[in-house]
Amino acid sequence: MGKAFKSGLCAYCGVAGSTTADHVIARGFFPQDLRANLPKVGACQECNHKKSKLEHALTAVMPFGARHGRASEALLTVERMLARNKPLHRLMALGFRSVFRSINGSPWMRETTVPFDGESLELLGEYMVKGLARHHWGLDLGVDTYVRASFLNDVGAAAFDQFFEGSAGGRVVNDLGEGVFRYEGIQSAEDVNVTLWKMSIYGAEVGGDPLLVGQRASLIYGVSVSKDTRAAELLSTIFRDGELAAGRSVSL
Ligand SMILES: [Zn+2]
Repeated sequence: MGKAFKSGLCAYCGVAGSTTADHVIARGFFPQDLRANLPKVGACQECNHKKSKLEHALTAVMPFGARHGRASEALLTVERMLARNKPLHRLMALGFRSVFRSINGSPWMRETTVPFDGESLELLGEYMVKGLARHHWGLDLGVDTYVRASFLNDVGAAAFDQFFEGSAGGRVVNDLGEGVFRYEGIQSAEDVNVTLWKMSIYGAEVGGDPLLVGQRASLIYGVSVSKDTRAAELLSTIFRDGELAAGRSVSL
C-alpha cells in the first residue's frame, strides 16, 4: 500500500484512521484490461470491509441492466460467479420476470427484469460520493456532513440540475473503463464540503417504482453538504421528495 493512504482519516467514516487503500469504484465492475489507474483512497478496515460486501453483491447484478458493450464481459464473470454461488443463483432465477411494458407511450414490448436491491446501490453510491470527494478535492467528510445518493424522479432530477448547472468552485468529468463508470461532480465555491455528483454504472437502467410505472433512471445522484446549513435543508428536501423508489428491478 502506498504511503499516501496510511495517514489521515478514513475517507468513508471520517472518524477512524486510514489503514488500507480502497478502490472507490470496485475493480470487479470493470473488465480485466480496464482496471489500471482506478481512483483509490485511504480507508479503515471496517469501512473497507462493509463496502466490499456491498460491491460483491452488486457486481453480480448490475451487468444485467447494462447498455454498455463491455458489460457482456462482466456478465461472463458473473456467470462463473453464479456457478460457484448456488444460493445467489437460485435467488436470481426466482426473480427473473418477463413483463409487457410501455415506456413513455411507446408500443408495448416484452421486457425481462431481474430483482435488484436498490438500497444497496444507494448505500454504495454514498461511499462513492465520499471517496470521489476525497480523491478529487481531499475532503474529510465526517459525521457533521450530510451525504446522500439516490435515484431521482423527473421532478427531483430537475431540482437537482438547478444546483448542478450553477457556478461551481470545482468541476470534474470522468469516464473510467471506457464508459463502464461515468461521473461528473461539482464543488461549491462557498462551502468546500458541498459536492454534487451524477454517476452511472454501465449505463444500466433501473425501474420498478410501483407509484411511477414506466419511470426509469440510469443516473445515481449524490450530494455532500455540511449539516445544519441552508444548503443542507434544500438538498435533503430534494432527495426526500424527489426520490425514485427505484431499484426494485434492472431491465435486461
Ligand atoms: Zn472508516
